[in-house]
Amino acid sequence: MTAAVSLQNASRHFGPVKAMDAVDLEVAPGEFFAMLGPSGSGKTTCLRLIAGFEQPTSGEIRIFGEAVQGVPPYRRNVNTVFQDYALFPHMNVRENVEFSLMLRKVGKVERAREAEAALELVKLGGYGDRRPGQLSGGQRQRVALARAIVNKPKVLLLDEPLGALDLKLRESMQEELKLLQRQLSITFIFVTHDQGEALSMADRVAVFNNGRVMQIGTPEEIYRRPNTRFVADFVGSSNVLPPEFVDGVLGVRKWASLRPESIHVAKSGTAGAAQLTGMVIARSYLGATTRLAIQMGDLLLHATTNSGDDVAVEGEQVSIGFAKDALHLMEDAA
Ligand code: ATP
Repeated sequence: MTAAVSLQNASRHFGPVKAMDAVDLEVAPGEFFAMLGPSGSGKTTCLRLIAGFEQPTSGEIRIFGEAVQGVPPYRRNVNTVFQDYALFPHMNVRENVEFSLMLRKVGKVERAREAEAALELVKLGGYGDRRPGQLSGGQRQRVALARAIVNKPKVLLLDEPLGALDLKLRESMQEELKLLQRQLSITFIFVTHDQGEALSMADRVAVFNNGRVMQIGTPEEIYRRPNTRFVADFVGSSNVLPPEFVDGVLGVRKWASLRPESIHVAKSGTAGAAQLTGMVIARSYLGATTRLAIQMGDLLLHATTNSGDDVAVEGEQVSIGFAKDALHLMEDAA
């Protein structure tokens, strides 16, 4: 099957800055694909290259098999939803959504019908006469989405589209966006620095660091089997264990990750494949679970336990157990 979007050895350098460096990736048609990484890691540059706002310094980009070198943004079968939504403040909601149809010379009646259908899809039917300034942040976000999907693009590019929303709204929009994507079967490529958002929404995630893609995989693969220390650290709050420690447990001198929820903490000795002791130095109540920071010699480990259990307190000595196969070996590359 032809990929919706593919990048082959694509780079974008700004003088000495390698904003994006030798990136290979393929996004399947209908996929919800997240580009995740810390600030400055190159994900926005990657999105802008796909959109056509930037040209690669080297390498190739294809959209549905067609090389798009030199093709301007409006001739690519993609639409972008920007973080700041970029709505026209002097136009009402309907006019905002109709705008691109007008540019494409779609007739008035059809324009109105398409715009209303797009607004219905994002649950803003009946809001057509309002101005952006008369809407909440979440509603503005939906107008931006309606404005993009009204063009029926094959690929929708979203640059931190939920970044401006408060946590509660963000969470409900995450679900809505995912439902909408399934409903429309459009390929979504979504940029975020929020690992929770990427893991919960995407079919696959590409983790960026320093302009490079460190790993691409399903949320579960990325979370459970990070290939590097960087990915383990960035995606979730894994414990990254040094080779000396891993050697003592498995007899292999390699870095390994160990998820906080894989660690069993008990007040006295427990039967586990590997067993160690340490002292609780911090305890954070998170609702259903409690997070413990446990000092074990030079090593600081984090463990999560059910809050309902008899959780150890600060200063308490505990024993720590985990199954050997909970240790996931990784390469050193940061
Ligand atoms: P954020 O989450 O903060 O938006 P990002 O991962 O999207 O970050 P990019 O915006 O792609 O990162 O930037 C990657 C790197 O390239 C950064 O170091 C940035 O400063 C640099 N960069 C981006 N655009 C330009 C430009 N036009 N000129 C020079 N450097 C740039």
